Amino acid sequence: MGCDCPLCGARVRGARLCAGCEADVTRSCREPGARCPRCAQRLRQPAPLCAGCLSRPPAYLRAIVAFDYEPPGVALIGQLKTRLRLSLAPVLARLLGAAVAREAPLPADAVLAAVPASRASLRRRGMNPAMEIARSLVTALDLPLRPGALLRLRETPRQAGLGRRERRAALAGVFRGQGVRGRHVALVDDVMTTGSTAEAAARALLAAGALSVTVLAVARTPGRGS
Ligand SMILES: [Zn+2]
Ligand SMILES: [Zn+2]
Repeated sequence: MGCDCPLCGARVRGARLCAGCEADVTRSCREPGARCPRCAQRLRQPAPLCAGCLSRPPAYLRAIVAFDYEPPGVALIGQLKTRLRLSLAPVLARLLGAAVAREAPLPADAVLAAVPASRASLRRRGMNPAMEIARSLVTALDLPLRPGALLRLRETPRQAGLGRRERRAALAGVFRGQGVRGRHVALVDDVMTTGSTAEAAARALLAAGALSVTVLAVARTPGRGS
């Protein structure tokens, strides 16, 4: 099937970037040792873990990201989340699948779950970008999706401007996991910023009996962690 590269418009085969754009977008995720192996935060200097994971290890096993939330990749997220181009979901899932293949294999019996959107953003967009990406990952990673594995019990106030501890408190009890007892879970989100949402979602899945949680986020905001 002939398609256009969503960044440069070159003709490509299928829902994907052209080779040149894919290399540009994923460059910062292909440098060995450039990221914290637990939370995927870009490191300012080489270290076994970032300061945040060292002082307070996250509940999830590790986070894998496809690119940093900055140009040129940020435009792809905008096409899905702002312009609501659903055709971007398989493109992003393919980049995320490639990052998983590069970083670490997931357990063969893992199940996919998506971070639930807030009611306000569901109303605004009519879809949950994380769930659309998770749906496309079913094929890209050959794993089953559990659409109801994570529920949002209440809405959260805006997290911008809150410190790490305040964000954690604001997110306590927001999610509930279900139907994941004894399973390894690959938790899908579109953008991972501070990691507080992924942390709260992972805690909920573990509380519901998940054996482990690996976060799969398309993009990671650089420089916000520690
Ligand atoms: Zn291109
Ligand atoms: Zn870290």
